[in-house]
Amino acid sequence: MWIAKDIETLRKYRSEAKGYVALVPTMGALHAGHVSLIRRARELGHTVVVSLFVNPTQFAPHEDLNKYPRPFAKDCETCIAHGVDGLFVPTVDVMYPPDVLDCEVNVPELAKVLEGEFRPAHFPGVCRVVAKLFNMVEPKVACFGMKDYQQLAVIKSMVQDLAFDIHIEGCPTLRQEDGLAMSSRNVYLQAEHRRHALGLSKALNEAKRLIDAGETDPLVVEQVMQQVMIAHHVIVDYAVLRHAHTLGELDIINPQLTGDIVALVAGQVGPVRLIDNKVMAQTL
Ligand code: AMP
Repeated sequence: MWIAKDIETLRKYRSEAKGYVALVPTMGALHAGHVSLIRRARELGHTVVVSLFVNPTQFAPHEDLNKYPRPFAKDCETCIAHGVDGLFVPTVDVMYPPDVLDCEVNVPELAKVLEGEFRPAHFPGVCRVVAKLFNMVEPKVACFGMKDYQQLAVIKSMVQDLAFDIHIEGCPTLRQEDGLAMSSRNVYLQAEHRRHALGLSKALNEAKRLIDAGETDPLVVEQVMQQVMIAHHVIVDYAVLRHAHTLGELDIINPQLTGDIVALVAGQVGPVRLIDNKVMAQTL
């Protein structure tokens, strides 16, 4: 497995790569969720490149940029074990050269709601780094997790509008046995908070149960999701049902009228802010 830390080295390896390149962009601290993306990338491309970069522009000043886990040696072992061909590990100066003026990339309509309300700088930072990675790595395919549902929607939209010739593959969320979505931030959950964190997936399951049982009022479902989260001591940022593609609000839960529906939740659990979501597939 090659490792490139600057663009020149990356481009040298890139020019020698065989066939389609499939990219898995990550911030490192790899877990089984990331590995599932790597597996999918191996199915879709001939050469798999993983990027490891904790992107400062998607963190607000009060967020956890400095304490975000960076277990580089372990991440390398994980990538080797799963057949990754190349790692791109740029420094902040490689990604954002100090003498270059900033360019803005964003999909405001999708990026201002939900996560965007709580983290206004987040999606502009994500779009910018992903656009840069696409131009540097030049993949034919890029794999993203549905765990970050809104991020996936924003990136698909950016790729469409900016005409990147890249297929964006959305990959299912990997969960622990009890339902907690895998996340690099889960390592900060002590036993009690780990139990509280189940409030998110339980709220989503409850939403699904209600909709399958015929509930048609989105407000009722949203209130129940919120109650489940509060009962688990989660400080709720949001617990909502939305159109799966536009992330717009719903008047009524009726698949004939509304199309696909997704439930999205976010909240603070002890020291960690967690997000999760579930597509209400039975309603399609
Ligand atoms: P991150 O390192 O958190 O930026 O995540 C890198 C990629 O892995 C993103 O596309 C995430 O959506 C995806 N990802 C994170 N957690 C999971 C999970 N539990 N299951 C599947 N994909 C995930």
